[in-house]
Amino acid sequence: MSTAVPLIVRVLASSVSVAGKAGKIVRDVMSKGELGIVEKGKDDYQTEADRSAQRCIIASLSAQYPKVNIIGEEDNPDNEGDISSEWLAVDADKEILSIECPSFLKGVKEEDIVIWVDPLDGTSEYTQGFLEHVTVLIGISVNEKPVAGVIHQPYFKSLIDGEKKIGRTIWGLQEVGVGGYTAAPPPDSLVITTTRSHSNPIVEKALQVMNASQILRVGGAGYKVLQLLEGVASIYVFASPGCKKWDTCAPEAILNAAGGKLTDILGNYYKYGASVTKPNKTGVLAAVNNDLHTYALNRIPQELKDKLASSK
Ligand code: AMP
Ligand code: MG
Ligand code: MG
Repeated sequence: MSTAVPLIVRVLASSVSVAGKAGKIVRDVMSKGELGIVEKGKDDYQTEADRSAQRCIIASLSAQYPKVNIIGEEDNPDNEGDISSEWLAVDADKEILSIECPSFLKGVKEEDIVIWVDPLDGTSEYTQGFLEHVTVLIGISVNEKPVAGVIHQPYFKSLIDGEKKIGRTIWGLQEVGVGGYTAAPPPDSLVITTTRSHSNPIVEKALQVMNASQILRVGGAGYKVLQLLEGVASIYVFASPGCKKWDTCAPEAILNAAGGKLTDILGNYYKYGASVTKPNKTGVLAAVNNDLHTYALNRIPQELKDKLASSK
């Protein structure tokens, strides 16, 4: 690999490669049928796929970029141990390597980068057979801002030149753009996407006020942002503290690169430095463009915003 390629582009290219490998692990665990489900908390599960995919991603990226701070969702005792070479994916996506790096990111050093890894977003849906909702998320932040990301969808099915393919990888880089999917404009009527498995009365209240023509309830922050990118929904509303930084870093980076916006329910951006608190305590509000984001932000009652903010 040429060292002339700026670091951030190499990290993104490596992330694209390793996300595909993690996706294969996610499929393999499911087809073997031994999910090894562990309950981490209320409505919060971990499977062997979450554990193994995280091991693969962290071992592979840290072998290549030892000074980058990589934070994964799973508390995984095996993370510290020796990793066998079968878990390593240390190649880099050739197409990504040829991207022209935006000038403000050319001088980025390993120490400036924090990577947020959700090895399997949508675990509830994975265990319940809603496999299309499952994604692998790798978010790359620099100086607290999400600048690049990967959403890999291990169960996406497509036909390429008459041949059946499984899995796809969507990527984004700030000031460069996005790839791996076909962008589409938002639907003509207001379609909102939200949680399928983590609702509560406040989440529902924030949905009621949107005056939506349709509410889609699907799993995962990654999959919901994919729905925005592909014109299936216009706004993602989740007035709850349940999402964490690894859920939103990659989706936010890609949505930004596509012209969209992701903030909390109060309209503030989250920060992604290594010392931030992990929960996104004031919820998630994302839209395909600024106008729709402003629309949604204005419709959420101040009382509801205050309630989320005070539960910090
Ligand atoms: P959802 O939209 O419910 O699929 O949630 C998106 C991401 O946030 C997933 O990784 C969930 O596991 C996480 N999440 C959301 N709400 C909660 C919650 N109440 N408890 C644990 N995790 C949550
Ligand atoms: Mg998640
Ligand atoms: Mg997860």
